[in-house]
Amino acid sequence: MNAVTYSAKDFKTEVKPVWCPGCGDYAVLSSITKAFADLGLAPHQTSVVSGIGCSSRIPAYTNTYGFHSIHGRALAVGQGLKLARPDLTVLVAGGDGDGFSIGGNHFMHACRRNVDLTYVVMDNRVYGMTKGQPSPTTEADWDASAMAPPGGTGMTPFHPLAIALAAGANFVARCFSGDPNGTAEVIAEAIKHPGFSFVAVMSPCITFREEQREWKNMVRPAGVEATTDAAQAARRLMTDDGMNMGVLYRGNRVSYGKEKKATASFADLEAEFAI
Ligand code: SF4
Ligand code: MG
Repeated sequence: MNAVTYSAKDFKTEVKPVWCPGCGDYAVLSSITKAFADLGLAPHQTSVVSGIGCSSRIPAYTNTYGFHSIHGRALAVGQGLKLARPDLTVLVAGGDGDGFSIGGNHFMHACRRNVDLTYVVMDNRVYGMTKGQPSPTTEADWDASAMAPPGGTGMTPFHPLAIALAAGANFVARCFSGDPNGTAEVIAEAIKHPGFSFVAVMSPCITFREEQREWKNMVRPAGVEATTDAAQAARRLMTDDGMNMGVLYRGNRVSYGKEKKATASFADLEAEFAI
């Protein structure tokens, strides 16, 4: 704990977000800054790394170390940063297009690599910044935008939580931006949990997916405790309707890089290289 305590406001910059009024990402920004403050962190101990897209503008709005990187590569940058500076709290943030399409491969491998960082995806099931193309999480029949093919893409939406679980993420949760305090609590827990923590936040794009305003009437607390059993978590995921909020899974894998350091000694190294 630091001698000086910082409030959520201390983690925000003076830069005014350019998001559309009513965009869910405002609340997620507040949840992230509240989580940092609630954990007793200082701005110089934290970093926010993003890719490209509406939500990826977030490093400009957070008073932390930050890197607004390139499309789909936020996790590559975030993992490198954490491995080079293990003392920093690294939070990677972005959207569904950035993280699951362009960055889909990084996502899977970050889950299995299990570097100790937190990945917050503001999922609105659309490419907002480029004016409304379907993203990997868009419903197969969605065609309400001029940028979508008539009748929709016809493709099964990507299931980020199931993929995170299957690929080895060590903490998996689903939140709703309309519950900023609940989201802040989950993000704080995700930061504290060792290894790769994935927090999928349903964050409405009120410009291109106006119907997502209804999410506030559809979401509900999951009503069950998080499990440490991946098979049970998978069963829950495959049978729910996508509206159950909260921490789904807490794993106990050792973070990448930690295992070796914990046991490294000359004798261990000699044994490792013995012929
Ligand atoms: Fe938010 Fe959508 Fe506007 Fe982008 S286009 S700022 S996601 S409401
Ligand atoms: Mg999006």
